[in-house]
Amino acid sequence: MSETSSTPSDAGKDLGTVVIGGGLAAAHCVHELREGGYTKPVTLIASENQIPYERPPLSKEFLQGSKPAQDLEPFPASWYSKTDVDLRLGITAESIDPEAKTVTLSDKSSVGYENLVIATGCRSRVGGRDSNMTGWDLPGVHTLRSLEDAKAIKEQLVSGRHLVIIGAGWIGMEVGASARNAGVEVTVLTPDEVPLATVMGKDFGSHVAQLHIANGVRCHFGTGVTGIASDPNKGLMVQTATGAIAADAVLLAIGAVPNNELAVAAGLEVGSGVVTDEHLRSSDKSILAIGDIAEAYNTTLDRTMRVEHWDNAIRQGKLAAATILGREESYDWLPYFFTDQFDLGMEYVGDRGANDEAVVRGNMEKGEFIIFWLRKGVISAAMNVNIWDVNDHLRSMVGKTITVAELEDTSNDLMEL
Ligand SMILES: Cc1cc2nc3c(=O)[nH]c(=O)nc-3n(C[C@H](O)[C@H](O)[C@H](O)COP(=O)(O)OP(=O)(O)OC[C@H]3O[C@@H](n4cnc5c(N)ncnc54)[C@H](O)[C@@H]3O)c2cc1C
Repeated sequence: MSETSSTPSDAGKDLGTVVIGGGLAAAHCVHELREGGYTKPVTLIASENQIPYERPPLSKEFLQGSKPAQDLEPFPASWYSKTDVDLRLGITAESIDPEAKTVTLSDKSSVGYENLVIATGCRSRVGGRDSNMTGWDLPGVHTLRSLEDAKAIKEQLVSGRHLVIIGAGWIGMEVGASARNAGVEVTVLTPDEVPLATVMGKDFGSHVAQLHIANGVRCHFGTGVTGIASDPNKGLMVQTATGAIAADAVLLAIGAVPNNELAVAAGLEVGSGVVTDEHLRSSDKSILAIGDIAEAYNTTLDRTMRVEHWDNAIRQGKLAAATILGREESYDWLPYFFTDQFDLGMEYVGDRGANDEAVVRGNMEKGEFIIFWLRKGVISAAMNVNIWDVNDHLRSMVGKTITVAELEDTSNDLMEL
């Protein structure tokens, strides 16, 4: 928000912290720095021309009209100016020089740093360099990552229109539910047997599929898309191995790609994301990485992991600030996330492995249940579906040795397990 602009002549000055990215991780990082008493300069470089905002509602409440754009901001614009955070909106960081400790910006200025935090997040996977999907750039084909994207999709949610969603992951299924709630005809296409199968397994995937089918979503599972074409008479045509489906609008929801390029060009160690230690410091100790972009070492799970979830973005933003403030805190928490689709709300905590055994406690048909995942008799993850105020307890159960029978027996008090 400030009008000041740094130049290479910053060299030698009290440079402070520069954060690249205007998402949730970045916002919480700069907030925690100031809350923690950091008095040096703080600069936030944000490509989007928009105060940092929360993305989860973009596929849910925002699309459904129950949460307006101004309610998405974790901190109001006034907070950044009041706390002297130099918020540069609509400016992209183009390169990092780790030797000179400077970042070159799209307005041709550069800014020097003592600590640099990379929080560039992800972008939607499309065609071209990301996948072999053709027709992804046709008018009427949408992706959903930003508020601008969500506004464009919202305009398409007119009762009776037909939205074809390619991909049955979290965003595809959430938008499917929001669109149905608006009276839109929805078709979901995925090569997988059920939605969310790779992330949550078949039990929960089948449950989500039934929920969507019951609400009128046309689900074409086991149906891969070969491309999208535009027919002058029929409009958009989504092509599958078995035929083509006409659509008024298409949502391409085939995953996200980390914005790693800056870090790669700067010579940092990059795997699935920017590799960091448990304090979120990268292979260059003056540069940290947080949120969706970070492949960080988790001390509890004893491995690096990259997590694309809201809770992680907030916590890692705060942790990076703690590291800069000299507090000895570590990345030690278990992944957590949530979703809302139709009347299903769920929270997940833990580290489910693809081969872990799923144990259902409660009544899936009634829609209120908990799934535990067991690895060699030890709880690796748990998920509460339409049962509330239990997730902290489930978190405490992860790592516990327990039998299937104990978990399934609902006459056992969950809180005693
Ligand atoms: C539609 C949607 C729904 C979601 N729903 C859920 C949910 O229900 N539950 C859940 O747990 N998670 C959800 N998520 C995931 C969650 O929102 C992300 O994990 C979180 O936003 C990650 O925050 P981040 O700050 O790391 O990255 P991002 O939010 O991706 O922010 C990165 C920012 O950096 C900017 N940027 C990139 N490169 C540069 C550059 N070179 N210079 C300057 N700026 C740059 C980008 O423009 C972007 O604004 C959802 C995500 C989306 C898109």
